[in-house]
Amino acid sequence: MSISTKSESKDLKGLSLIAAHSHISGLGLDDQLQPKESAQGMVGQLKARKAAGVILKMVQAGRIAGRAVLVAGPPSTGKTAIAMGLSQTLGSEVPFTAISGSEIFSLDISKTESLTQAFRKSIGIRIKEETEIIEGEVVEIQIDRSITGGHKQGKLTIKTTDMETIYELGNKMIEGLTKEKVLAGDVVSIDKASGKISKLGRSFTRARDYDAMGPETKFVQCPEGELQKRKEVVHTVSLHEIDVINSRQQGFLALFSGDTGEIQAEVRDQINTKVAEWKEEGKAEIVPGVLFIDEVHMLDIECFSFINRALEDEFAPIVMMATNRGLSKIRGTNYKAPHGLPMDLLDRSIIIHTAPYSADEINTILSIRATEEEAELAPDALALLTKIGQETSLRYASNLIAVSQQIAIKRRSSTIELTDVKRAYMLFLDSDRSVQYVEEFSSQYLD
Ligand code: ATP
Repeated sequence: MSISTKSESKDLKGLSLIAAHSHISGLGLDDQLQPKESAQGMVGQLKARKAAGVILKMVQAGRIAGRAVLVAGPPSTGKTAIAMGLSQTLGSEVPFTAISGSEIFSLDISKTESLTQAFRKSIGIRIKEETEIIEGEVVEIQIDRSITGGHKQGKLTIKTTDMETIYELGNKMIEGLTKEKVLAGDVVSIDKASGKISKLGRSFTRARDYDAMGPETKFVQCPEGELQKRKEVVHTVSLHEIDVINSRQQGFLALFSGDTGEIQAEVRDQINTKVAEWKEEGKAEIVPGVLFIDEVHMLDIECFSFINRALEDEFAPIVMMATNRGLSKIRGTNYKAPHGLPMDLLDRSIIIHTAPYSADEINTILSIRATEEEAELAPDALALLTKIGQETSLRYASNLIAVSQQIAIKRRSSTIELTDVKRAYMLFLDSDRSVQYVEEFSSQYLD
């Protein structure tokens, strides 16, 4: 199977959740897992980031199964940001799925099916395969210019390592098959099974180049004169992807539309048995990923019992939940509980707290965001945004950057000045002012 190595976590649904955090590339920890004041786009919130570092180690060591992590704190204190930082540090091979509590209530599929899919998207199956590869220098590329569209088709001729044999690969989508454009003189390897071309560099490959390809890449010594090398290739797919591919109703195309509908329990049972067999035979490894549920208080009591049960499953991911609620009602009951979570789930959870930011931290985060959005802020504009951030919320202040930038562009300025921020603040209300407005004009609204 050679489908995508990424889980669907970063699919379209998750984009809006991720865009606000595009400046974050990790948790910003040093080698001893101590948080740096500002690194990898992360600022302050040191205690919570340090705790996230411990979780990171536990995830990497596979020692957290069956437990959940709850990140609790006031709005805009970086709960989602920390989850994103964790996901970035784990890397693309570890599945990370982000959903919002309210997202699972849909008319198309039941909430437990929706949660099951989210759980299974967060379990990676690393499948090992052996394939033959050919390696050599590209001596000639003939591109058929009559083909239009994204990829050029053509003929690629490579001179293999023994300098005698020429290997021709006809009618392949040359640019499409490689991450980078292949040029004559490049050293490439071709996976015979899939036809996939990988660029190895512009000089002949030495042993250390193989090392650089990662521990999973194993080159087996071949008898003299033999051109092929054996290579162990590893694909990571999510359990959910395997479900969809094997579901007769859906077919693999559903992976692209995202419209997978409900998947039958028998299909999942069969897949579980198969994966357990592969694991037994050493053909596959299970990679528990992270399922992040933002606004977890939006789930109801049935969902919470489902999560409790699912955490016991042999294929459980690490469930990370975030909430900004204090003592509140558990949905679907009349009981109040801390963070709106039932006690049994709370009991299983490791809790990380986030705290409000200082003015300096808000200032640094806003200037990182401005750089990320390619917006230039005059010093007094940044100072005002910081003050707004302190008095309203970091998210609101952060949103004002893009609006202020538009206002600045309108008056043909490439720099956001104080007046632009003031105008943006007057044009767009923060939640407190919006509430005031609604109260003031309540008679004009529909009930
Ligand atoms: P809510 O409870 O309202 O969902 P939250 O605690 O999840 O809020 P975030 O969405 O993480 O808050 O933060 C708001 C914005 O501030 C995001 O753009 C986020 O990336 C950024 N941000 C928050 N904390 C940090 C931080 N410590 N370093 C860098 N950026 C941060």
